[in-house]
Amino acid sequence: MEELDIVIVGGGIAGLATSLALHRKGIKSIVLERAESVRSEGAAFGIQTNGWLALQQLGVADKLRLNSLPIHQIRDVLIEKGIKQRESVGPASYGEVRGVLRNDLVRALAHALPLGTLRLGCHILSVKLDETTSFPIVHVKNGEAIKAKARLATVLIGCDGSNSVVSRFLGLNPTKDLGSRAVRGFTNYPDDHGFRQEFIRIKMDNVVSGRIPITHKLVFWFVVLLNCPQDSSFLRNQADIARLTLASVHEFSEEWKEMVKNCDMDSLYINRLRYRAPWDVLSGKFRCGTVTVAGDSMHLMGPFIGQGCSAALEDGVVLARCLWRKLSLGQDGMNNVSYSSSRMQIEEAIDEYIRERRGRLVGLSTQTYLTGNLIKASSPVTKFLLVVLLMILFRDQIGHTRYDCGRL
Ligand SMILES: Cc1cc2nc3c(=O)[nH]c(=O)nc-3n(C[C@H](O)[C@H](O)[C@H](O)COP(=O)(O)OP(=O)(O)OC[C@H]3O[C@@H](n4cnc5c(N)ncnc54)[C@H](O)[C@@H]3O)c2cc1C
Repeated sequence: MEELDIVIVGGGIAGLATSLALHRKGIKSIVLERAESVRSEGAAFGIQTNGWLALQQLGVADKLRLNSLPIHQIRDVLIEKGIKQRESVGPASYGEVRGVLRNDLVRALAHALPLGTLRLGCHILSVKLDETTSFPIVHVKNGEAIKAKARLATVLIGCDGSNSVVSRFLGLNPTKDLGSRAVRGFTNYPDDHGFRQEFIRIKMDNVVSGRIPITHKLVFWFVVLLNCPQDSSFLRNQADIARLTLASVHEFSEEWKEMVKNCDMDSLYINRLRYRAPWDVLSGKFRCGTVTVAGDSMHLMGPFIGQGCSAALEDGVVLARCLWRKLSLGQDGMNNVSYSSSRMQIEEAIDEYIRERRGRLVGLSTQTYLTGNLIKASSPVTKFLLVVLLMILFRDQIGHTRYDCGRL
């Protein structure tokens, strides 16, 4: 059985960000990712000021800025039965917003890690505690077992996304189905697309679609089908996803339909939207021994305020900082880290991380939940109540972008 110090399950945004944050503090970790390559599903993200602050701490912000245009504003359009009901324009964030390709982000994070940190093709099947040491053991699909060292600093961090093995081990309540499906993709324009540098979001009946220019020749877009049947057997390949998406936007402008029609087929990614209920984020037990979670495994949320990825980056910075504070490092640099901390100190560090994150995450998941419900609501009374609740709790709608996760 191989023994390792800090094991991170999942090499997505949260996993790579956490590993990189630890590395920048001189702490070695290993990331076990089930895919055979760094995954590119998910096309792109809008990253707001708080996400850029986290990327700055991770040392990859400037590199990512080179390939993404700043977005100056957000335009919201509401169309009902073919008639435009409302159009509003406002700031998209306090500070910086840019669209970033998922591929660019995971590569930037992965390339900044020391060689050998990311282990591909490692599918974790289960987690259990070692009977004698109480340290976690993860079971990998190929039968090889990787056990966090049965010595002092032994940590298992679940960053394994929306269907997390580690969050099941922690006994967290299952995530809930939003009853919606989202398609994400991007479209290349050989000549300048000529779109404004704005995030435009259009709601037309039961469909919400958004577009963010990434560069002058590339745009990221998404289509959310608000009420969508469970059955997905009709979606067998990329062409089926493209057909469904195009049919969903058939009442949008010609320019919008062209964008969807001319998409990069490989970039198309569809998933059912699920979320961890805000009350579960408020009360969830996010630690058992030295096992914890970050990213979607901890706080899966709908895309309605565009904060899932940025929140995952923040998690990585805060978790690394909390662990570093409690771990006293040896003198020989990161390859020879010696831990003199006790198991209790590690648990305290994780508790500190959870305490620091919980308030922030309850806020984000509540605002996302209420906003998602408002978008879906058809009854005027429900809409009114949700608007009032949002006004009371989140008077400043983009206040969530002001958050600074602090220095590493
Ligand atoms: C339509 C839509 C639009 C969005 N737009 C935005 C946006 O504009 N801005 C934003 O900030 N966020 C956005 N999000 C949210 C964002 O995509 C996620 O919050 C973010 O990707 C979470 O990162 P993660 O690392 O937690 O999970 P993931 O990126 O899903 O990574 C999980 C990783 O774990 C691996 N894994 C899973 N199970 C195992 C296992 N058993 N063993 C080993 N490895 C495993 C997976 O292969 C994967 O690589 C959007 C989401 C949707 C659905």
